[in-house]
Amino acid sequence: SPAMTLQSNRSLLEIDRDHLIHPVTSFRGHETHGAILLESGKGMWLKDREGRDLLDAFAGLWCVNVGYGQDSIVEAAADQMRRLPYATGYFHFGSEPAVRLAQRLVELSPEGLDHVYFTLGGSDAVDSAIRYITHYYNAIGKPAKKQCIALERGYHGSSTTGAGLTALANFHRGFDLPLRWQHHIPSPYPYRSELEGDDAAIIARSVQQLRDKVAELGADNVAAFFCEPIQGSGGVIVPPVGWLKAMRAACTELDILLVADEVITAFGRTGPMFACEAEGMTPDLMTLAKGLTAGYVPMGAVLMSDKVYQGIADGAAADIVIGHGATYSGHPVSAAVGLEVLRLYTKGGILANGQRVGTRFAAGLAGIADHPMVGDTRGRGLLGAIELVANKGHKTRFDPALKLADRLFERGYRNGVIFRAFADNIIGLAPALCASDGEMDMIFARIRNTLDDLL
Ligand code: PLP
Repeated sequence: SPAMTLQSNRSLLEIDRDHLIHPVTSFRGHETHGAILLESGKGMWLKDREGRDLLDAFAGLWCVNVGYGQDSIVEAAADQMRRLPYATGYFHFGSEPAVRLAQRLVELSPEGLDHVYFTLGGSDAVDSAIRYITHYYNAIGKPAKKQCIALERGYHGSSTTGAGLTALANFHRGFDLPLRWQHHIPSPYPYRSELEGDDAAIIARSVQQLRDKVAELGADNVAAFFCEPIQGSGGVIVPPVGWLKAMRAACTELDILLVADEVITAFGRTGPMFACEAEGMTPDLMTLAKGLTAGYVPMGAVLMSDKVYQGIADGAAADIVIGHGATYSGHPVSAAVGLEVLRLYTKGGILANGQRVGTRFAAGLAGIADHPMVGDTRGRGLLGAIELVANKGHKTRFDPALKLADRLFERGYRNGVIFRAFADNIIGLAPALCASDGEMDMIFARIRNTLDDLL
């Protein structure tokens, strides 16, 4: 009976409130508001436990790039689980799916990234990159090179090492991070820059800021520059085309490694398979997760250049173990899922569909720019943002006391559309690559209704 259902819903929410700690969530807020428990999904659509149909404009957490309910992925996982649910990569072992997935990633990624280390997600991919870089510089006899530079508003996960590269206040506050070697330079944020409209000047200034920071720290002390090709959690900050390539050139000139954190931007999110590809550049290391398994099971990866790999390999005696790893590195079920997900992107046509519908997405962003609350719209591929302002002419932000971001999310949910509402009232959008034109139009219609509700 409906009363019974209500009762069981309520008790589940109470259990959730009392016992489940949610990631990146206010503990007290969660006790008050509870969670929206999701029940099922198909394509672009989610259903919650109350039976509400929700159009997911954020692909889960920018990861379910192939959409929900892809049966071939379920079958790939089940087949692998039946055959061999687990194989360690430690010591002398390995498994075919992990080997094949490494091979596919080397084939698909920018030329020069020849080695793959598998992780459980993005945070430990970043953490692994930091550990390997440290090992590398010790191995090649440059132990002073340990300082790392990242961008303000950057997000590089929440491990004890990576959270310090992350430059979002909530990830630092109260955690007493060891912040001795993480440094930040301003992000290339055209809308909030007085150089808006002059891409070349924005790029040149960024390069200069990197040079200045390296000079300040001493070139002999700097290990690497970490960046997202497009900053995600910081509010989908889209740098000018050519920025990434210019930063690559600067890193080479400064003799520091460039780590492209493509956890969000890879696997067709910005159009091509990798955002680096669009700029014809190869980073020294690349971190991946999310779209690698499209969120169906956990997995991340670090891609490594031969230079870094050989440096580490040559630095250790042949029988010395490089002590970095986890029980589930290269997990065969995750790898089997990854292989099927990559097949769906390529042979399954999902990458191509994403590129096609990206045009519709861009039109949707352009179409909503006239709304009185919208200060800026920006995007690339199927990654986009709508930045809301109290005053368009002056780009004034809404008073934080209004808690507009919370109300935005709540209103969107009532209107049947899920997006992220970031700090500074930036709506983040990252729909799955399998969207139809009709679904794309529906996303923007529902967002417009949501903004109208809040006017
Ligand atoms: N790096 C970037 C650029 C990310 O966006 C994220 C997650 O959003 C991470 C790292 C951390 O990944 P995970 O949440 O899988 O640990």
